[in-house]
Amino acid sequence: MNFRGKLIVFTFLLLLSSPAAMAEALSAEDKVEATPLAPGLYLLEGGGGNVTASIGADGVLLIDDDMANMSDKLLSKLKELGGEAPRLIVNTHFHYDHSGGNAAFGPRATIIAASAVRDRLMTEQTLWRQKHPPVPRPGWPLLTFDRELQLHVNGHSVRVIHLPHAHTDGDTVVSFDDGKFVIAGDLYFAGMFPIFHREHDGSLQGLLQATEFLLKVTKPDGKVVPGHGPVTGRAELQAYAAMLRASIRTVRQGIRRHLTLEQIQKVGLPAICEPFSHGFATTEQWIAAIYKDMQADRRSSDPKQRRT
Ligand SMILES: [Zn+2]
Repeated sequence: MNFRGKLIVFTFLLLLSSPAAMAEALSAEDKVEATPLAPGLYLLEGGGGNVTASIGADGVLLIDDDMANMSDKLLSKLKELGGEAPRLIVNTHFHYDHSGGNAAFGPRATIIAASAVRDRLMTEQTLWRQKHPPVPRPGWPLLTFDRELQLHVNGHSVRVIHLPHAHTDGDTVVSFDDGKFVIAGDLYFAGMFPIFHREHDGSLQGLLQATEFLLKVTKPDGKVVPGHGPVTGRAELQAYAAMLRASIRTVRQGIRRHLTLEQIQKVGLPAICEPFSHGFATTEQWIAAIYKDMQADRRSSDPKQRRT
């Protein structure tokens, strides 16, 4: 099932099911597919977010580790590709479709994440209106950082960079070999309107800044691995950034003209934004997300309305 298909099923199941039943239904038919990006470097697509694997003399480095019930299939695929259980794992953020393999791989792997990711994995969280208990202790990152660290793995120079308050508060970008391959996590939904989680201290402004940063670190001929969707070049990332800027500008202008949300939705977004509409975030929903974010920002910066 492709990502758009998964999102539609996911939305439907949200209305019906428990998180466990939902995860099971989503991954029952899923297998892990590998696409080579460079020698020893693979995109692995399973049941949740994209996984990137570096396999070589230093062992296996994973960037994200899919959903919890995909761990066996992920390990089988790593072995098939000549690897073994991961030695190092970087979590791009805490969401369970990206960090679900932590508990299974954690006893042998060193899990690396921004401090905010560890804090969230250790405590109960609410995602898509569902409560999630703390993950089991082996799934907690052993190595945390707040700004940046450098890995030297399998001949690659790997920058691990924390960009706060974008999709969540723990977003981490991983840049291989000076921007030749950039792993963006959920800062980048390739070809789709993104999602930012205010409830996890994400923000629209942070998402825009993070996207500008992704453009800066990606080489002109570099490849970008999104959290969801296909691997793209820098040109597609540029189009995504242009869509973000145009969307924000349009909604901001509407608010300045005292239009209601419905009126802004009726006017719509510039034509360059339309191709990004999808089942889980249509143009109307995307406009609403931006509008609500801007209104919440206005409320929190207005001393008369600020709660003490
Ligand atoms: Zn996410």
